Amino acid sequence: MSSELEVIARLGRRLAPPPPGEVWIGDDTAVLVPPAGGWQLLAADAVVEGVHADLAVLTVADLGWRAVVANVSDVAAMGGIPAHCVVTVAGRRGLDIDTLYDGVVGAAVAYGCPVVGGDLVSSPVTVVTVAVTGTVDGSPVLRSGARPGDTVWVTGPLGASAAGLRQLRAGGADPALAAAHTRPRPLLAEGTAARRAGATAMIDVSDGFAADLWHVAEASGVGFELEQVPVAPGATPEEALGGGEDYQLVFTAPDDGRVRAAFAGLPAPVRIGRCSGATGKGTLAGAPLPHLGWQHNC
Ligand SMILES: [Mg+2]
Repeated sequence: MSSELEVIARLGRRLAPPPPGEVWIGDDTAVLVPPAGGWQLLAADAVVEGVHADLAVLTVADLGWRAVVANVSDVAAMGGIPAHCVVTVAGRRGLDIDTLYDGVVGAAVAYGCPVVGGDLVSSPVTVVTVAVTGTVDGSPVLRSGARPGDTVWVTGPLGASAAGLRQLRAGGADPALAAAHTRPRPLLAEGTAARRAGATAMIDVSDGFAADLWHVAEASGVGFELEQVPVAPGATPEEALGGGEDYQLVFTAPDDGRVRAAFAGLPAPVRIGRCSGATGKGTLAGAPLPHLGWQHNC
């Protein structure tokens, strides 16, 4: 990489200018007007080359896009909307930082969370760390609020990202599945709709559907009985249950009518089952649901 200051200056020129009074790139910290009312959300997530991102099938621009989207999706899963992000790139020698920023800026513009700061360092392996702030006007939807009797919903079919990765590695992919892997979309409108529908718990499918639903069950102290899980066309049932990074939202709610009304104008969510009082027990079509999904090694 060329001199850090030179690169930061070049990248800074590509970013949106701050509103009057605020300071974004270029000082010790960004200076922001605090949000009025509601709650402030703050999250961070790192994408590590070779661990979360296979650069044999992803471009470095995809890597930047995905690092921002992983964070925006976490905000969506609280029922919030993103506000700002800071981006730290630990880049290996020869990393094309400008191309990486094509993806970062693309996602930041698409999802309304301008890059207001960050850092640039050298590293033996590329790691893109993004922190995002968000706001929620009302109560954020936690993982811990599901109650026995609530119905369980998912915003769309699962497994597309894992199927896209499998097909890309095999050398040819269906464009929609490839895009699900390389350019996932966070479901902000759906997250807000679920919150307005009175969702009691919510999570985004990042580790894998089964793993993420178990996170909700454990946090809420409930079990669940699922009738079905919608599988994306071209994906296998195992990819739907265990493949990560779909960024669909899984939520629980006490009132089906409110869910359907809140999602008017959006793709209809799929009701997949019900929460039970059998803490720690989860079934799909009567069989135990395996703990499939990404396991964090830390
Ligand atoms: Mg999440």
